[in-house]
Amino acid sequence: MCVCGVLTMNRLKEVYRTDLPGRFNEMEMLDRHFSLILNVFNGNILPPYEILIHTSSICNLNCKWCIGGYVSSKENKDALLDNNLLKKENMVKIVNSIINYKKMGYDYKNNCNKEYKVENVTFSGITGEPLIAKDSILYAIDELSKHNIRVGIFTNGVLINKAMYETLLKLGYILISIDVGNSETYNKLKCNGNDTNNFDTILKNIEEIKESK
Ligand code: SF4
Repeated sequence: MCVCGVLTMNRLKEVYRTDLPGRFNEMEMLDRHFSLILNVFNGNILPPYEILIHTSSICNLNCKWCIGGYVSSKENKDALLDNNLLKKENMVKIVNSIINYKKMGYDYKNNCNKEYKVENVTFSGITGEPLIAKDSILYAIDELSKHNIRVGIFTNGVLINKAMYETLLKLGYILISIDVGNSETYNKLKCNGNDTNNFDTILKNIEEIKESK
């Protein structure tokens, strides 16, 4: 690393937390992406390290704390955000763009040129459940992981089924929001009080995915 880089890192160490574990450690993250950040500061815009995609604004649940109702279209506050990614052909365009987005930049740690690309894609949802766009998201996981891009997903887990396991096992991580401790509370807080077996379904899905792994 150049002298200027070392000085910058030392100054950053004074203001960023270093005590959080793994990928949550702010200093570790800055260190890992130091060259990428420095390229951008120097005017060389490179592919981002990570892209976060919300595939759907529709959800199969109704959590009492959900902010979905506050994130609506500007023109009509009662309307859902567009759901373009329910169409697989739109996801195909995005996935191809991500895979092909590569650009040369400088590696300040090893003092040489280097090709930068998107390293991580996460599927999530501010107002909806990502697996609502099932065909699109399964295609994306298969295709991105085939190109060595790490893929993750945040999901409520209810829509997972056996036919998806093979693809889901290619994920770098899957975060399933359960939020409660039993079926009764689940239905009360997440299903408008309706009698469902969602809670047991999710636990069964987790168990089966673990076994498949
Ligand atoms: S699962 Fe997520 S998106 Fe769906 S209602 Fe609950 S908080 Fe909202």
